[in-house]
Amino acid sequence: MKIAMIGTGYVGLVSGVCFSDFGHEVVCVDKDPRKIEMLERGEVPIFEPGLDQVMARNVDGGRLTFTGDLAAAVDGADAVFIAVGTPTRRGDGHADLTYVMAAAEEIANALTGYAVIVTKSTVPVGTNRKVQATIAQANPAADFDVASNPEFLREGAAIDDFMRPDRVVVGVESGRARDVMAEIYRPLFLREFPIVYTDLETAEMIKYGANAFLAAKITFINEMAMLCEKTGADIKAVAKGMGLDGRIGNKFLHAGPGYGGSCFPKDTSALARIGQDYACPMKITETVIAVNDAVKRRMIDKVVDLCGGSVNGKVIAVLGVTFKPNTDDMREAPSLTIVPALVGGGAQLRVVDPQGRREGEALLPGVQWMDDAYKAAQDADAVVILTEWNEFRGLDLKRLAGAMAQPRMADLRNIYPVGDVRDAGFDAYVSIGRKGFG
Ligand code: NAD
Repeated sequence: MKIAMIGTGYVGLVSGVCFSDFGHEVVCVDKDPRKIEMLERGEVPIFEPGLDQVMARNVDGGRLTFTGDLAAAVDGADAVFIAVGTPTRRGDGHADLTYVMAAAEEIANALTGYAVIVTKSTVPVGTNRKVQATIAQANPAADFDVASNPEFLREGAAIDDFMRPDRVVVGVESGRARDVMAEIYRPLFLREFPIVYTDLETAEMIKYGANAFLAAKITFINEMAMLCEKTGADIKAVAKGMGLDGRIGNKFLHAGPGYGGSCFPKDTSALARIGQDYACPMKITETVIAVNDAVKRRMIDKVVDLCGGSVNGKVIAVLGVTFKPNTDDMREAPSLTIVPALVGGGAQLRVVDPQGRREGEALLPGVQWMDDAYKAAQDADAVVILTEWNEFRGLDLKRLAGAMAQPRMADLRNIYPVGDVRDAGFDAYVSIGRKGFG
């Protein structure tokens, strides 16, 4: 199959690279010339483990190329995937479809023969029909079908998620389009990964349903953690006891500083707006959004309390700023709420993150970037763990405490056993939903 992939962000690039690894001929398109230049030099513009190797072997194999010329990529393609961003629209919480619709129009004008136009971006229910209408209007002679193929990969584990998905969802309404989609995903089909065929609206809804449900699960355990702090229960043991129930499962039951990232915040917001538009309020989702905001803000109080009621003049080492480990993505990360509040409170912040600096420098002004946790903790008044990168999971706690002016830790990912922190010589420790000390 010949595939054009429009957008080379976290989803477009991973999808394009993996499709080429399936044996298809893939051209990845981006309107950002810097990204295309990097890709043509063999450099990967994002941090995603393993992506560089799979990309290199398919470029070498002649199946994967990059261009800024959308028309050239679309010419002769069997399928054109739209994988552009759908951020939250300023002001009203809706998904901003500007990029999707602009891409649809460009594709319409470039179509030469039959092609399936596949929306991979996360889009509100009804968008694929709008894409269909936009293309038909822009190019009445175009021979095409549309398909909805939402993506479920996780940043940090994207290659594996794409190659070994729990399921592939395909919304299609013609046999011809279904055949093209089946051929594209045939390598997975052969390995018996489930492919769910639906209509367009259902496929669009599955993606929002899945993300809002996962966001609700995280938020539920975060709210339980707050109650654990009041009652003296231990959230880690509570989550373990709950998660062993097969109906609940242990994934997404880790209490933390609130969900962030490029998907959950914007997708819960968009689902809430869709509900309002259809006079069917999504009350659970609306509450999840409000509770998550409160959870993030609560983290500021935790650090302030740890520092004795004020962070003014305190030196604080922050370990991790990306929204989760193994990505450089900073979108809606809890650090973007917590770090500016601490800087605003007069603290002197030293920040360490294995991949977050490139994005984070512009987003977190007024902090000092360092490359080593122990150096950042030298003579500091507190250390705050915000992202559970592996290198922060295995710290030598004695060495860390020994370097600090005031050995105090806010472990906002519940990485360390309380006893280990005490034994290492820390004076004070707070985490999420567990008894601390100091
Ligand atoms: P991103 O912002 O990283 O990348 C989007 C890319 O599209 C950018 O490089 C941009 O330059 C390019 N682009 C925009 N308009 C274009 C056009 N007309 N022609 C060519 N290129 C164009 O976005 P992302 O994180 O990859 O997300 C893409 C979509 O996938 C979103 O709808 C998102 O909700 C969804 N999604 C994301 C994830 C994730 O983990 N990031 C997971 C599942 C689904």
